[in-house]
Amino acid sequence: MRILVTNDDGIYSPGIAALAKAATSFGDVTVIAPDVEQSSMGHAVTHSRPLSLKKSPISFEGIEAFRVNGTPADCVALGTHLYTHIDVVLSGINMGPNLGNGMWHSGTLAAAKQAVLLGVKGIALSTPVGKSEPDFEKLEPFVEKTLKLLLQSQELGLYNVNFPPDPTDIKWTRQSVRFYDGKIVPGVDPMGRKHYWFTVTPLEPAEEDTDRWAVENGFVSVTPLRLDLTDEKQLKKLMKEQPVNE
Ligand code: MN
Repeated sequence: MRILVTNDDGIYSPGIAALAKAATSFGDVTVIAPDVEQSSMGHAVTHSRPLSLKKSPISFEGIEAFRVNGTPADCVALGTHLYTHIDVVLSGINMGPNLGNGMWHSGTLAAAKQAVLLGVKGIALSTPVGKSEPDFEKLEPFVEKTLKLLLQSQELGLYNVNFPPDPTDIKWTRQSVRFYDGKIVPGVDPMGRKHYWFTVTPLEPAEEDTDRWAVENGFVSVTPLRLDLTDEKQLKKLMKEQPVNE
């Protein structure tokens, strides 16, 4: 199996080193990741300037690795162009969760989405960061277990995986869409000037069987996703109640 590993935290993140190492048990691994942090860039692509690819062996002993002056989606587009026959793109392990409505901003998930757009299976992996850095050694058995589960079938698919700090088991989940935690908070800079932080606020406990619920309860959350955003129910309703072109 040929595996492309990327992320949105940048090539020097400990999360991508942990993921690349875990991936070597499943096949040939190439790392192609942004040269600087690209978190919350969503599915941005770079089309107004060229991209460059530079060898970057630091933190990837024995694994071929390159850094790119672009976004996570750029890295996947470039990686699958240069390395044909990629079977799966793994993105992460992100330092911070990508759950519920937070998925819309996620560069980690966007890399996996870009893979699926190009006909390759995509898996995004994330874990929350508390006061201390995530313990990737503790997560390793669950990363392996989850990858084993998701790499079993050859079928094309998009998966969003989130690891709690101390996992007990794995759960299939759905996206929690009831609440949104993005918020603007005003503040003052050291010069006394007003500025604004786009930040997140704590949410109510999530509904059972959702991604956020699973992680809040110590389970690894695995959510199968699709790229089709069509609201089928609304489409049917509109065609019936407000017909056009009759
Ligand atoms: Mn990130």
